[in-house]
Amino acid sequence: MKREHAVVVGGSMAGLLAARVLSAHFDRVTLIERDRFPDEPVFRAGVPQARHVHVLWNRGREVVEVLFPGLEDTLGMAGAVVVGVPADVLWLTSAGWRRRFDGTEMLSCSRPLLDWAVRRRLTEAPDGDRAKVDVLEGHHVTGLLAQGRDVAGVVLGSGGELPADLVVDATGRGSRAPSWLAALGYPAPPETRVDPLLGYASRYYAIPPGFDADWKALYIQADPPATRRTGGLFPLEGGRWLCSLSGAGRDYGPTGEDAFLEFAKGLRSPVLYEAIRDAEPLTPITAFRRTANHRRHYERLRAWPRGFVVTGDAACAFNPIYGQGMSVAAVAALALDRCLREPGPGFERRFQRGVARSAAGAWLVATGEDLRYRETEAAHVRLRTRVINAYVDEVVATANVDRHVCRRLVDVLALMAAPTSLFAPAVLARVAANRVRRPAPVPMPVPSRPPHDRNAETSGRPGRDP
Ligand SMILES: Cc1cc2nc3c(=O)[nH]c(=O)nc-3n(C[C@H](O)[C@H](O)[C@H](O)COP(=O)(O)OP(=O)(O)OC[C@H]3O[C@@H](n4cnc5c(N)ncnc54)[C@H](O)[C@@H]3O)c2cc1C
Repeated sequence: MKREHAVVVGGSMAGLLAARVLSAHFDRVTLIERDRFPDEPVFRAGVPQARHVHVLWNRGREVVEVLFPGLEDTLGMAGAVVVGVPADVLWLTSAGWRRRFDGTEMLSCSRPLLDWAVRRRLTEAPDGDRAKVDVLEGHHVTGLLAQGRDVAGVVLGSGGELPADLVVDATGRGSRAPSWLAALGYPAPPETRVDPLLGYASRYYAIPPGFDADWKALYIQADPPATRRTGGLFPLEGGRWLCSLSGAGRDYGPTGEDAFLEFAKGLRSPVLYEAIRDAEPLTPITAFRRTANHRRHYERLRAWPRGFVVTGDAACAFNPIYGQGMSVAAVAALALDRCLREPGPGFERRFQRGVARSAAGAWLVATGEDLRYRETEAAHVRLRTRVINAYVDEVVATANVDRHVCRRLVDVLALMAAPTSLFAPAVLARVAANRVRRPAPVPMPVPSRPPHDRNAETSGRPGRDP
């Protein structure tokens, strides 16, 4: 492959990170985005999910920092919050409250801030050995420019063409890659869908003045199949909270004022409702329902064109409730770098295998959990999944009271460890011991309130790691 010009289609997280990697391997990189990028960290239409909670788990943080050293400092100065998980989280798991051990960390800020900061770093004057990234905003890619059965660039909605040695599709869930490939004579990729029929509703709040609590975030999980509703309250820059409520099995988070609060009140614990009921809402409530786990198995296609790859949600999208999509896109960006460093033909197919590997652990976690809901639409639920889920129930219960198992579990969620590590002998032994001992459950924490609303016993610390 010549390394003169690479084109990335889609300027959200997967596209931005891919463009950064390509800038170290190509003379020139063009990022094409159908939206116009705002100059400020504000919402844009092409990423409608940005109005909902977006946390960056540790693995994603690590990769983004490798690609853009110092970015987290910039985000921190802009008000992004590092949240210890579970140290800073009141977390009601399916098996009860989790003790607040030291574990891993996540970065919590608004998605517009994160994208804006990454975008600025990507497009600033390149340092050292990387090429400039040109941005072509307000341009819609409608197809691939063919050279025989290979890809030689993209076709724009305006009718123009842009030749390239490599085209990366990072257009998200709505990717047209299957039909673009079909136009070149390639078969459609096999697809897997596991749809928990889950819908989000989210709203920004001002953190009440003087609010004083020993937690930074709240996470009240469903306990499927018994309950289907989840609520999260996460801190954002600018002294704000973002509250996302979601329900599976079409029990969608509602957008009505009263219904939103009622939904929050109906979660398995009232702590989230207690926190938001007196807080000042800053935005209307917005909904999002395109949340199915959806995988296009490009790695299984035998024939594949030269000059084209697919990454990010376009290849594998997850139920967002587990917060994995951006981190998986980041790991795939590293795979792109590795594949481009390896000499030899077949780069494109090697990369699609790398994308599949990057997504494998997160896919297991998300679909394994989603198959607990009776209403989840999926081809079939294997006995193996049921057996694994029964074991994971025990892991979750143990992690609530055992710091080692807790650490391992949050490392899996944070993509720092493979799900198979939950079956390591040390974990198995602790899970078995917990099952025999059955320690007392962690007590329910008492919600904290703003000072004007606080009485003597409200800012309790139960649940903190002793
Ligand atoms: C409700 C919700 C909450 C989420 N929460 C989290 C979270 O907490 N943590 C996490 O890691 N992930 C989360 N995710 C997932 C995360 O949003 C995505 O994984 C992430 O944005 C990476 O996606 P992407 O870049 O592949 O695609 P997208 O973000 O969908 O972006 C695609 C881009 O391509 C552009 N585009 C599309 N078609 C064209 C075209 N033909 N020509 C030019 N441009 C085009 C679009 O305008 C857009 O900019 C969440 C997702 C949802 C839905």
